[in-house]
Amino acid sequence: MHETSLIKDMLATVRQMREEKKDSPVKKVTVELSEFGSMDEEHFRFHFDEETRGTELQGLGLEIKKVPIGADAKLVSITFGGQETI
Ligand SMILES: [Zn+2]
Repeated sequence: MHETSLIKDMLATVRQMREEKKDSPVKKVTVELSEFGSMDEEHFRFHFDEETRGTELQGLGLEIKKVPIGADAKLVSITFGGQETI
């Protein structure tokens, strides 16, 4: 699976949550990557930057956690101004 569509889906979730939170600023997202999955961190970050650049989400922080089992990549939390959601 390629990262682009996956990241687009994640960003759609972020935008939706942001709207529900009345446009409060999003600080970062936390994504779990499987250590044995098909995505490496550098490559994932590259696509993440590419998909956020020039949008209202540009500069959004990305925290990556490597996990031994699980999906190749999974959005685990969105941090709004200091508080965790989802
Ligand atoms: Zn790629």
